[in-house]
Amino acid sequence: MPLPSVAVFAMGGTIAMAGRGEHGVKPSLDAGALIDAVPQLADVASIEARTFRLLPSPEVTIPDLFALADAIEAAVAAGAAGAVITHGTDTMEESAFVLDRILAVDAPVVLTGAMRNPTMAGPDGPANLLNAVRLAVHEPARGLGVTVVMNDEIHAARFVQKGETSNPAAFRSFPPGPLGWFAEGAVRIAYRPGSRHALAVARDAEPVPVALLTVTLGDDGRLIERALDAGYRGIVAECTGGGHAAGWVADRLAEAAGRVPVVMASRTGAGEMLRRTYDFRGSETDLLARGLIGAGWLDGLKARLLLTLLLMAGADDAAIRAAFAAWLDPDPAV
Ligand code: ASP
Repeated sequence: MPLPSVAVFAMGGTIAMAGRGEHGVKPSLDAGALIDAVPQLADVASIEARTFRLLPSPEVTIPDLFALADAIEAAVAAGAAGAVITHGTDTMEESAFVLDRILAVDAPVVLTGAMRNPTMAGPDGPANLLNAVRLAVHEPARGLGVTVVMNDEIHAARFVQKGETSNPAAFRSFPPGPLGWFAEGAVRIAYRPGSRHALAVARDAEPVPVALLTVTLGDDGRLIERALDAGYRGIVAECTGGGHAAGWVADRLAEAAGRVPVVMASRTGAGEMLRRTYDFRGSETDLLARGLIGAGWLDGLKARLLLTLLLMAGADDAAIRAAFAAWLDPDPAV
């Protein structure tokens, strides 16, 4: 039996960093070098490797991801059982979330990378890459949406977060935990996320600037106005707790919500935004009544990307509200 084929797209990141100089490593290794470092891959899949970008992940852009989505869809249409993307870990959760929103494939699409670069003792990149390819050829992984594989765990794009700077166990999924794991080379899937909420965004659409601001103790919220002056077309405010801000910050957020969509997420990074618990100036009920849109259980980074994609798709206020509400409803129609 011929082995299934997997398209591997290298984007850069620590997994591809080498050349340890005076100031550390930088993106250097192409897709071929990453594959050659893991001979065990030859027993799992036939690999089509392509160096798509060679970037530190903070430099990955939405147009890069749209181009990558086109390439993944083309590879799957040409017969690949799945796709693996090697990517820097710093923004991996964001790239995974964008791809999960826009890809029109059922085949497994798996992002992976490394916390320890190849010049360090115990680099995790090779083991992560091997696991990612195992998942990409795993038939039950079809229809799971985009996943992140790190440190022997499988995370759904909608939940995954990088929560540590250097520990190989840096990735976690809030609220439900990883959707699976690997043991002795076997893939285990513990649960399947619900509907995927895919968006139709033209692949050549211009990125729309959306600001992500954090509400903090003692701040007067002047950045909110500055963001509008600077041309941001939407704002995501990471509010305190379940959706709160000082009354004077709430006033500025409400004013902004009269001009652009303003979404409230939680600066805690985890848990669902409240909707009906508190009743003070600047509480969640006040902010919602004054036009803000709740992010549901999406964290600020993901809410910002969702709002960006919706604006790129030309969504109006009602469509934006419906799209965010869909994350809380069991059977979204958008
Ligand atoms: N430290 C990063 C990484 O883990 C660098 C990056 O995100 O490109 O890959």
